[in-house]
Amino acid sequence: MSNCIFCEIVRGQAPSWKVYENEWVYAFLDINPVSRYHTLVIPKRHYVNIFDVPDEELREVISVVGKLAKYYKAELKLEGLQVINNNGRPGQQDVFHIHYHLIPRSIGDGQNIRWKTFSRWRADFDQMLKQIDIVD
Ligand code: 5GP
Ligand code: ZN
Repeated sequence: MSNCIFCEIVRGQAPSWKVYENEWVYAFLDINPVSRYHTLVIPKRHYVNIFDVPDEELREVISVVGKLAKYYKAELKLEGLQVINNNGRPGQQDVFHIHYHLIPRSIGDGQNIRWKTFSRWRADFDQMLKQIDIVD
């Protein structure tokens, strides 16, 4: 995609701090890190998000997410890691080229993700499951 910043990074037309690349995947440091080594993992080909990326390329991306997680744990002695993937505007996606955030975490790092929970919705679970019927 011509006007996509992550495509420009893959093509070398925009600067990046490369962590790793292979035939399908590119990984680089986030320009506005929320922790040291905050890394983005993307497919080299342009897909908007989880809703349009083909399974095979998603597998390649996730494989690199796993590889880097283990590598960082071993080399950087990580205590924790959050893997985050935002999809669509309501899903808090800002850059519309699918990416996985690897965010190293440690106790007392000052970061905190907190969700509101709604335990009363448990009453709806049976009805909710009736509305979906996943087949392979
Ligand atoms: P999102 O909110 O879409 O999940 O995350 C987009 C991420 O891309 C943000 O964390 C932001 O800092 C990062 N980002 C945006 N533009 C650039 C860029 O030009 N270079 C790099 N390395 N990261 C970027
Ligand atoms: Zn792109």
